[in-house]
Parts: sequence; structure tokens; C-alpha cells
Amino acid sequence: MTENENENALRTNINAVKTIVHTVKSTLGPNGRDKMMVDGGGNAIVTNDGATILRELDVAHPGAKMIIECAHTQESLCYDGTTSTVVLAGQLLTNSENLMNRGLHPNLVCKGYNEAAHMATDYLKDSLSRDASDETLTSVAKTAITGKTLDSATETVSQLCVEAVKKAGDAEKVRVLSLPGGSLRDSYLFNGAIVNKDYVIEHEVDMECDILLVNMGLEPEKTEQNVQVQLQDMKGYNAFKSSDRESMLEQAKNLTNHLPKGGVVFVRDGASDHVCAYLKKHDIAVVRRLPESTMKALSSTLGLPIAQMPSDVECAARGKVHKQRHYDVDYIFVEGMVDSDQSTLVLRGATTTTLDEIERGFDDALGVVSLVMNGDGVVAGGGSAYASMASYLRSQAATVEGRAQMAIEAFAEALEIIPATIAENGGQDPLDCILSLRHAIQDGSLDMGPDLENEGIVSMNESGVVEPSSLIRQAVLSATEVTTAILKIDDVIAKRGA
Ligand code: ADP
Ligand code: MG
Repeated sequence: MTENENENALRTNINAVKTIVHTVKSTLGPNGRDKMMVDGGGNAIVTNDGATILRELDVAHPGAKMIIECAHTQESLCYDGTTSTVVLAGQLLTNSENLMNRGLHPNLVCKGYNEAAHMATDYLKDSLSRDASDETLTSVAKTAITGKTLDSATETVSQLCVEAVKKAGDAEKVRVLSLPGGSLRDSYLFNGAIVNKDYVIEHEVDMECDILLVNMGLEPEKTEQNVQVQLQDMKGYNAFKSSDRESMLEQAKNLTNHLPKGGVVFVRDGASDHVCAYLKKHDIAVVRRLPESTMKALSSTLGLPIAQMPSDVECAARGKVHKQRHYDVDYIFVEGMVDSDQSTLVLRGATTTTLDEIERGFDDALGVVSLVMNGDGVVAGGGSAYASMASYLRSQAATVEGRAQMAIEAFAEALEIIPATIAENGGQDPLDCILSLRHAIQDGSLDMGPDLENEGIVSMNESGVVEPSSLIRQAVLSATEVTTAILKIDDVIAKRGA
């Protein structure tokens, strides 16, 4: 393999990444545009979310796949900042091409980039990040949703996100339910769990009643596959069938003992129809085949443990239950009487397509609020942190010996792609924006970013545009990692089985 062919593999990878970056770049920032993605069957989604676009892209190129994986890492760790990560990685690769054209070996570029990433993230932590106050939480949510469909109700949405995360303690614990119909402003936080199933047999349940949670035991036990039972006569068959029936009714009686005034039983597994009919006679409604997560949510709402079998039930819990129908689907709303951290964010939107995008926006906002609430610091947004890190790196580049210095300078320049792209997508001149930012930073204003309402630049802290600092730190580190990984590839070889 000649030096030239090695270079070819690298350049093909870089070009593939550039194509991906080009796809998502125009979605960055509050004025970013949306993408409509259509599959072979004509199904469409409309989104502004970098991670979603990348997930749905039909990409075969291995280099491009690496960049998509990097965006997924960013999403799973920080919930947001995926487009920034991809755009930054693309610029780092483009700048590395220039360095290689000037004779720098890819290994040296990697070394310089790694060093720059560490210098920049240390500076971010030590000099740019600050502790968050309570109002900052709402600003963090607002920053995450600007530019998304949620923009039309920024206040409502950001307050809902903060309220939901405060109650649950962590974004992962917030349950979200999208109900088509109504408008985004009708979204609310329900203090309890919502089950999207109906009662097995239609039932009028009082608002307040006794409730039980059971994992299994209300349907015949499943036999192992291929078990053969030989029965001599009809009598034997009837005895065999009725023993099953009786044991189930025995289990059902256990339930009636705990619900003397009737109530509702939520069952994780199945519940056979005749057990449900028996329970109905005792004024007990059954909801069956619930996902484990719903059972857990019910358990925490009611402060009631889930019994494995009806015979394990110790006591019932009081709760408020009511049923609502939305577009032919029944939902049972359950509220507990105990102090619980369980809540469900009910999202309303006109169509399922907009609701999906609303849900994605909420995911980002809930995630970033949760990062800050759990101790993360905040930094000014709008790309200002990237611009400040760039200026810092430039001032420090000369302290590094040799050609790695050039890589550090190239890294600094790449960081500025974030504010530049936000400005460009807002219809401004990216170069003017960068020059104004550099000038402001020189004068000590480290929180300036593109002013998208007027022209020029404006203080991001004063505009309430703030982000968790770990979001930016992770974006810089992930982009650097994927860039250096791509730069180290000198050959693409087909492997067996491919
Ligand atoms: P990502 O997928 O990287 O989160 P977004 O499209 O969500 O991409 O854009 C996020 C960027 O937009 C962040 O850098 C954020 O600080 C910036 N931003 C958000 N609101 C504003 C605003 N009002 N003015 C300028 N920049 C903003
Ligand atoms: Mg975002």
C-alpha cells in the first residue's frame, strides 16, 4: 500500500463525514431549519433534532457511521448538543486536511488536537463555568428548546420541565405521555401514573377506591412447550380443566378478601376472562397486561408494593382513578394518596407528527435541566463558550513546542464554527460575527454570542441563553475523539462475512 493510497482512505472518510455534517449543519441554533425525512414507504418525520436526523439517515459509509455513533454518545450522556458535536467534528476534520496539506503527519495532528481539547475543557471548567441558581434552570430549559416546535410555548414548556424534574429528581424518572389533540399550551404535569389500557370488562369506578397491584396468577399457568398430557376419559379431562379453573378462582378470592368494597386490580401478566367476570361480580375491575415500567410507576404513585401472586397480597392502597378517552384510546389516570415523586408529563399537540417532535424537544430540555439540577455548572450559550475557548487556546498555543502548535491553532479555529454557524443560520455574516466575538473577548466580555433579533452580538447571560457546562465539555471531547479516530485510519479493508 503506497502513501498515496493511505491518504485516499483518509480523504474518502473525511468526505463522507463532510456530507453528514452538511445535512445537519443548517439545523443548528434557534434559527436552524427543520428536515423532513421520508422513508421508502412514504412515512415522514419532521425534525430539527440532530440526533434524530442522524439516527434516521440511511448511511452505509463506515467513516460516516463513526460520526453518527459519536452523536449518539453525546445524546445518551448529555441529552442535547448533538448537532454541535457533529458540526465541530466536521470542522476539525476539514482543518486537519489543511494541516496535512501543509505537511503535518496525521499522528501529529491527533496529538495536537488531544492536547487542545484538554486545555480547552480545563479552561471551560475553571474559568467559564459557574454554579446555577434556581432561575437558571428555566433558562437552561428555554435554551434547549429554542428553535424547536416547542418555541410557541417556551414559558409553559420550560416551567413544566423544571417542575417535572424537580419532582422526579432525574430526567430518566419523568414519564412522558403524548396525547393528540389540543395545543402545546394545554400540556400539564399529572401527579400520578397514566395507564394506556382499558378495563377488561367495562366498569364504572368511583373516583376514590382501593387498588391492588399483582404480577401474575390470574390466568392458567403456561405449560412448557411440547408437554403432552394423556387423559383416559372425559371425566379425567374435566377434572384436569376444572383444577386449573379452581386454583385461579381461589387466587381471585384472595383478591376479593382484600377489596371488600370493590376496587381495581392492575395485573402485569394476563387475567383470564372468567376470573375477570368473577371479580366484576364483586365490583372489582381488572386492567391486565401492563408493561413493567407502568407497574413500577403505579407502585410508586400508590406507595404500594407489587405482589407476585394474589396470595402474596398484604394490603390494598387508596387511590383516585378516572378514565379518559382520546382519539379512540382509553387512558386510566391513577393518583395516589401518599407523598410520591411519581409524575407524568402529559404533552398535547395537534398531530402525531408534531407531537413526536414535541416529545423530542421535551427530552432534550428535561435532560439538561436534570444535569444542572444534579450539580452541573452552567456556561453562557450561543457558542460563546466555544469562542472563549478558541481565544484562550490561541493565547496558549505558543507555549507548546513544535508543529503540534499548528494543530492547536487549527483546533481553536474549528471551535469558532459553532457561533459562526448559529449566526449564519440566523441570516448573519459568520465572519463578521467571529471577528466581533474575538474583539469582545479581548475586551474581557466572555459571554457574547450572535444577536439573532437584531444584528451583531449580545450578552448571552443577559439574554438568558445558558447551557450545562458538561454539555459543551462532552461535545468538545466527543468531537475530538471521533476526529482523531478517523485520522488514525489509513486503510479500509473488507472483512470476511461482509
Ligand atoms: P444541538 O443539537 O447542538 O443542541 P441546537 O439546534 O439545539 O443544536 O442549537 C443549540 C445551540 O443554539 C446552542 O449553542 C445554544 O446555546 C444556541 N442557542 C439557543 N438559544 C439561543 C439564542 N437565543 N441565541 C443564540 N444562540 C442560542
Ligand atoms: Mg439542542
